[in-house]
Amino acid sequence: METPQTHTITKLDSSVINRIAAGEIIIQPANALKELIENLIDAGSTSVDILVKDGGIKLLQITDNGHGIHKEDLQLLCERFATSKLAKFEDLESISTYGFRGEALASISHIARLSVVTKTKTSDLAYKAFYLGGKLVGQNFNTNAVAEPKPTAGTDGTQLTVEDLFYNMPSRLKSLKSKNDEYSKILDVVGRYAIHCQNVGFSCKKYGESHQALSTRPHMLLKERIRIVQGSAIANDLIDLESIKNKDHAKLVGLLSVEGAITSSDYMNKKKVEPVLFINHRLVSCGPLKRSILAAYYFFLPKGNHPFIYLSLEIEPRNVDVNIHPTKREVRFLNEDEIIEIVTDLVQLTLSSHDSARKIPTQT
Ligand code: ADP
Ligand code: MG
Repeated sequence: METPQTHTITKLDSSVINRIAAGEIIIQPANALKELIENLIDAGSTSVDILVKDGGIKLLQITDNGHGIHKEDLQLLCERFATSKLAKFEDLESISTYGFRGEALASISHIARLSVVTKTKTSDLAYKAFYLGGKLVGQNFNTNAVAEPKPTAGTDGTQLTVEDLFYNMPSRLKSLKSKNDEYSKILDVVGRYAIHCQNVGFSCKKYGESHQALSTRPHMLLKERIRIVQGSAIANDLIDLESIKNKDHAKLVGLLSVEGAITSSDYMNKKKVEPVLFINHRLVSCGPLKRSILAAYYFFLPKGNHPFIYLSLEIEPRNVDVNIHPTKREVRFLNEDEIIEIVTDLVQLTLSSHDSARKIPTQT
């Protein structure tokens, strides 16, 4: 006869809790990369080189030329809820940086081997530090050695190396798509930021290959950045969005500015390209806005063809809910219907003025 169990509820070990929580934030290598890109933009970088091995599972290495991390901050770098960007809850309302939760590096260090080499302008030396499970550990991940950053030679900026992602989550590893699929998702994320970030030059390549899969320089024109990321067919048929005419009307609903470029009705393409949408410089998606803009194209594009859309909206920060789960890219903001209508009208106006300029021959 079975002995009746006295209790079945036990508290999970904190390392297990942290690993589960991290696995909810970082689902695939591209999620980790997005966090690291946002950090380096926050750090004022103008140039970043990304190296990827085995779809980012074996290695993701990101080298930036940003302001670097002070030696004193390296102890807490991967501690959960440790951030340099937010001090009190109210700051969330006016936050302009990408990060604020202090969760990304902590999460990554719970499900991968994370190391950093970093140098600030005021320091003569660079420092190298290794992290496991949210904690600074000894050099080369030696948990028996003294846990401290080691001085080394290096240039201004930060190099973050993520190795063996999900090494301690075998089921997640199995559920990942092929290395090539994961690599495409990484290139997609890099491409989106490369299109949006005018001041930052991006390069990305596979480990062991000499050619860059993608390479932009800072201050390239938008059209050139889109050409590099999306190809000439799209770049050649791009039109800039008209500026908002009725500005007061937009301001009233919290829409501060709209910029972007879209393909004209000349561009025919059977393959869907996910719109590149940034709101307050965050890469987001917004299902209702996307559907509304695509609907505007029905008048201009033959059935079965798809446009390319890049939009950068600025919305009154306190109207945008940024305190959502980091992997949920879907964004919420106030006066959604009104703002969607204004942006869709703008797309429609841009497309129709392009069309009529083309159809009415210029008088000589
Ligand atoms: P958050 O971005 O929410 O603050 P993270 O875990 O992503 O949290 O980063 C923790 C801290 O590490 C940041 O607040 C920042 O001070 C520092 N940091 C991370 N990446 C970089 C980088 N590339 N350059 C300079 N500082 C960085
Ligand atoms: Mg961050």
